[in-house]
Amino acid sequence: MNLEEIARLCHDITQSYLDISEGVSPIIVETQEAIKLSRKHIMEEIFNRWCPISGEISFSYNGGKDCQVLLLIYLGCLWKYYLDNKDKFNWDKFPLERLPTVFIASEETFTSLELFINSSVERYNLNLYKSQLDKTRKISMAEAFDIFLKEYPITKSILIGVRRTDPFGEHLSPIQKTDLNWPSFVRLQPLLHWKLAHIWSFLLYSNEPICGLYSVGFTSIGSISQTTPNPSLKKLTNSEDSKLSLSFDWEINNSYPNSMVKKSEVNISKLTDEDITLLSTFGEFHPGWYLIDDKLERSGRIKK
Ligand code: FAD
Ligand code: MG
Ligand code: MG
Repeated sequence: MNLEEIARLCHDITQSYLDISEGVSPIIVETQEAIKLSRKHIMEEIFNRWCPISGEISFSYNGGKDCQVLLLIYLGCLWKYYLDNKDKFNWDKFPLERLPTVFIASEETFTSLELFINSSVERYNLNLYKSQLDKTRKISMAEAFDIFLKEYPITKSILIGVRRTDPFGEHLSPIQKTDLNWPSFVRLQPLLHWKLAHIWSFLLYSNEPICGLYSVGFTSIGSISQTTPNPSLKKLTNSEDSKLSLSFDWEINNSYPNSMVKKSEVNISKLTDEDITLLSTFGEFHPGWYLIDDKLERSGRIKK
């Protein structure tokens, strides 16, 4: 699929989710509202200030569930933008071939996540800038973005899949400048109001491939030495396990048709042998989407 085709698919997935009216759980109703607000931020505020086909807008992508949700919604908006402006600008084809994206690499990324990012580059036609590692010292995220901006000075604003429930996320706004100790650009954060349950509901319904680490109990993915599967998802004996239940049966069983995946199966990317060996030391966990409590999302992060 080229960018035009995948943007159209993302638009159709989003629209189809918004049209769900049968078997609707309160989570689905809330997620429909969350999508509408995100689309409003993107179509009415962001696209009115920055042109989405000029390179002024970039997208920060690390293969995680939140930025993937944002990517699906954003690409859907890009398709809508194309339809709305096609005649005005006399476009005879989709005006962008690859989406400008940026990934800040770290030495300690799970190989399954790296593979997943590579597969996202293919699937979503990303023009991915990957920051270089420096063996002699650790480069901060702010510094990495400074280097990125020197190479891509056309960038004025960057989309981020941050949510209010993330650390330091509470007081953020959908559109705001970076802090003083950061290089100067505008942060675009259209997903701030999303809760963990909304993320899973939309992602599982979308049937898009998601990073395999989520299927083995991860709910938030940091560096290898600082992330484990979420302890709240550890498999116990049957009776003790009854506290956990799946809130997304409907989304999984009625997911957006994707010919590659059997109905009622979750579309997960393959784990590498290296990660499988590493994870075998932790024991068995329920999939990440069994967790909907935002407060516990980062319980698998080891504090240093
Ligand atoms: P996650 O859920 O892992 O990340 C939240 C989102 O950040 C992701 O959805 C993705 O869009 C982006 N992201 C995270 N890690 C990466 C990565 N390695 N490569 C590319 N994108 C990534 N903090 C400040 O204090 N002041 C700032 O002005 C500021 N500006 C920022 C601008 C950008 C473009 C980004 C990406 C981050 C910025 N941050 C800033 C840091 C930000 O607030 C988070 O601390 C940071 O994104 C890490 O998120 P997380 O791991 O807590 O959550
Ligand atoms: Mg996140
Ligand atoms: Mg992170």
